[in-house]
Amino acid sequence: MFRNRSTQQWQDADNTNYLHPFTDYKSMRETPARVVARAEGVYMWDVDGNRVIDSMAGLGCVAIGYGNKKLAAVAAAQLEKLSYCHSFFRTTNREAIELSEKLVAISPPGMSHVFFTTSGSEANETAIRLARRYWDLRGCPERKVIIGRDNGYHGSTMATASLSGINTMHGAGGDLPLPGFAHIGCPDHFLFGAGESSEAFGLRAAGWLEDKILELGPDKVAAFVGEPIQGAGGAILPPESYWPEISRICRKYDVLLVSDEVLTGFGRTGHQWGMQGYGAIPDILTCAKALTSAYVPLSATIISQSVADVLIEQGGEWYHGFTYSGFPMACAVALANLAIIEDEDMIGRISRDIGPYFESRIQELNTLPIVVDTQARGLFAGIKLGRNATTRTLFDEELGVGPWCMQWALDNGLALRAMGDTMMLLPPLVVTREQIDEIVDISRATFEAAW
Ligand code: PLP
Repeated sequence: MFRNRSTQQWQDADNTNYLHPFTDYKSMRETPARVVARAEGVYMWDVDGNRVIDSMAGLGCVAIGYGNKKLAAVAAAQLEKLSYCHSFFRTTNREAIELSEKLVAISPPGMSHVFFTTSGSEANETAIRLARRYWDLRGCPERKVIIGRDNGYHGSTMATASLSGINTMHGAGGDLPLPGFAHIGCPDHFLFGAGESSEAFGLRAAGWLEDKILELGPDKVAAFVGEPIQGAGGAILPPESYWPEISRICRKYDVLLVSDEVLTGFGRTGHQWGMQGYGAIPDILTCAKALTSAYVPLSATIISQSVADVLIEQGGEWYHGFTYSGFPMACAVALANLAIIEDEDMIGRISRDIGPYFESRIQELNTLPIVVDTQARGLFAGIKLGRNATTRTLFDEELGVGPWCMQWALDNGLALRAMGDTMMLLPPLVVTREQIDEIVDISRATFEAAW
């Protein structure tokens, strides 16, 4: 299947023709990419046969682990039966219908309809357009602004990068944010707590939303969008008081609450949805990644009955959709994937056993002099590295060790992710206690080497 090439020849070719996402291209010439050849369970092997344990589940998406033969068989069978079917012009397919039923059944109370897309970005793009359309149809076309948060991450399209609160993305060739987006601070107690308890800080951070709504004018705001736990912006776990207060503020000003569950959906936090664990119910929910365990791209925007009523009863045709909306093979794989998560009680296992074990093992890393903070919930962990754990002082930005740690860990058999000096771990839902031990042992060795 492949031309016979040495590792270096693969890497040279990689740098010659292939533009990777989120990559400093010149630096790849000095430190070329690892060429991955195959993967199984929680492990990957490169073309030289080196094994790496993947504590990132790919990009937080390979929920049931790599190489599941059942999903591969479902995909192959579906491609033979019905390789493609669009959902335009009064045409549909059984796989998309069944998946929409399943998603509504496992969604938070009040959800009723599903719009299928292909990536997390498209699901969020759909949520943005939908929120604005909802207010248009309700006779409030001036309600346009979508509020996100600093360090929020919602995707890489022009609108979702605008909604995201990551400055480097705003500058990345788009002159972003586009008009119609606003941001508030993120609920990072470590960085922004002013000596108050986590719970008091959570209420104060939620209050920034009310301040922003009042500043913009409540009649100008369409929706607030947030990840239950902020991922790509730095593994930020909010205080327990945060989401219920955000939810109260959204209801008070009639602002739609959108939960971006692209990273947290389908069990990662020990709940079906991240927001469920924080006691808030959204009007719109977006999901992707673990929906198919990344065996094939698929995402969805799930909406409440009250939003659907406006869209359907008052809407006429909605000019929005994609060639691959409701792609039958992706929907068949998602159905089989969700059945595996359910049949193997993966979420129960995370909430009762493997999640608490992971959380406690991550906490142990707090004894290292370079670790200034750890946060973990279910199989979602963030570890902040810094130059003084006692005074909780971070590294100066240019002296940070995160990228170095990521490379050192990879060279020593562990894939983890650095966002600045915050290391993020999101192992597959099927990870065992022994594999968690392996992840924590290599993480510890990495942080000791960096000190
Ligand atoms: N939303 C969140 C919370 C994410 O973590 C991501 C990707 O990491 C996205 C949206 C964008 O998803 P995609 O890369 O599939 O477009």
